[in-house]
Amino acid sequence: MTPRISCEFFPPRTPGGMRALPRTARRLSALPLEYCSVTYGAGGSTREGTFEAVQSLLASGIAAAPHLSFGSDDEATIAALLERYRDAGVRRVVALRGDVASGMGRRHVRYAAELVAFIRQRFGDAFHVAVACYPETHPESATPADDVAHFRDKVQAGADSAITQYFYNADAYFDFRDRCAAAGIGIPIVPGVMPITNVDGLVRFSNNCGAEIPRWIHRQLDACRHDEAALLAFGTDVVSRLCERLLAGGAPGLHFYTLNQASPTLAIARNLHLAG
Ligand code: FAD
Repeated sequence: MTPRISCEFFPPRTPGGMRALPRTARRLSALPLEYCSVTYGAGGSTREGTFEAVQSLLASGIAAAPHLSFGSDDEATIAALLERYRDAGVRRVVALRGDVASGMGRRHVRYAAELVAFIRQRFGDAFHVAVACYPETHPESATPADDVAHFRDKVQAGADSAITQYFYNADAYFDFRDRCAAAGIGIPIVPGVMPITNVDGLVRFSNNCGAEIPRWIHRQLDACRHDEAALLAFGTDVVSRLCERLLAGGAPGLHFYTLNQASPTLAIARNLHLAG
């Protein structure tokens, strides 16, 4: 069975970046691409940028899925945004809590499950709703069991599929998938894949989001941090082997965190014989 492939972008900050985005997505169309998603700044900071990026992908014939969170917005604002997306031809969204900005104090947090329920209540089945999940446990979850229970809340609220936080240990995914199945979660859980192109950025981001870089990978990345070609070759090889194991073990697809670059994802896809 051909795996479902999706690619994630962030909304470009410059007009040149915005123009380049559909070109990048078209290069990635060499993969069996189901859709491309576009991230959303929690608190609505990229509301227009995300919308514009989604529109430009749609205009290029690429199925596009915006990420979305309540942040500090009220229901009317989020409903209006969803209406704009529906009217523009969007059929899939990624519903998130987003990260709570410091300074929000004890304000009521709108968990992702609340957004999923809101979308279902207001828009029925107009959208396929994907949610996030965490094979290595979300940093704020008290226990792995709590984490799965809160993931199940999102499924019970109406989520159709899930994309994982990235990880570099295939066993974390398989163990999580099995624990989810035991908890009665039956939706497809698509592994999120972060190509490796830069050591410091990856370490910083992984520390923030709670993704573990195994020591054997970290040490080898450190050793080639000043040799870009060696770093890319090692990163491509490690991530390709991870993807191979995931697909062989039954993962329903792969979701690439592209950071708006086509080449690292294409190199992995070629190793997997997925790029035409
Ligand atoms: P939730 O599912 O709401 O969970 C957040 C935390 O709250 C978890 O620890 C959970 O266990 C806990 N929790 C849930 N419900 C309850 C409850 N009722 N009581 C107590 N605790 C509870 N961030 C962005 O800002 N923009 C993006 O575009 C974006 N895209 C992402 C895409 C993917 C695929 C992934 C994996 C992450 C993405 N993120 C994005 C990051 C995400 O917003 C953060 O990981 C955030 O901290 C959690 O979001 P969530 O939707 O998983 O939250």
